[in-house]
Amino acid sequence: MVHVLNPPAIDSVALIDEVVAERQNGINKDFFNEMAIEWRQRVRAYLDNQGSPVMVEKWAAVELRKGTLLNLYKHPADGSAQGNALAQLRAHNLTICPACGEAGRPNTLDHFLPKGAYPHFAIVPHNLFPMCDACQGAKLEKTGDAEDPKFFIHPYYDRFSAPKLVSLTISPPLCHAGFRTQGKSRFARK
Ligand SMILES: [Zn+2]
Repeated sequence: MVHVLNPPAIDSVALIDEVVAERQNGINKDFFNEMAIEWRQRVRAYLDNQGSPVMVEKWAAVELRKGTLLNLYKHPADGSAQGNALAQLRAHNLTICPACGEAGRPNTLDHFLPKGAYPHFAIVPHNLFPMCDACQGAKLEKTGDAEDPKFFIHPYYDRFSAPKLVSLTISPPLCHAGFRTQGKSRFARK
């Protein structure tokens, strides 16, 4: 991560309420109504724990309805609450990828906690940030492991203030960029 981002100016908890409200005439009304309170609590827990995969739990109960939650992200209706939020996130003016520093407008959104494992955060703005295709391809569903559970730096929450942020070592092959800290490669491009 080479670029700290300001958190989105969107109320992620209120967005959940809006999404549920918009489903009151749809076929998934009961599903959303039943999960609404806990969904809200889990988004609040995400914000309180700054998206840390050590602290923020997966939600086994929604696994069977994962597709319904992912569709909110993949196929948002025009003018829908989450559609507007996603459009707002995509309307950034970044000219480098915040993860690797590659020049050019990052044209995809990455889920900090991956949507496959955390489908209930698929549309949560604080879980989404711009990233270049190469970084996202390298990150995919990774979050960390037992040895290093906070594997990825969160662009909205993590602040790195050490005087020496990174050291730069240029070595072959020279056609790829990578980011390495404490001996571990982060968002390394292969
Ligand atoms: Zn990148």
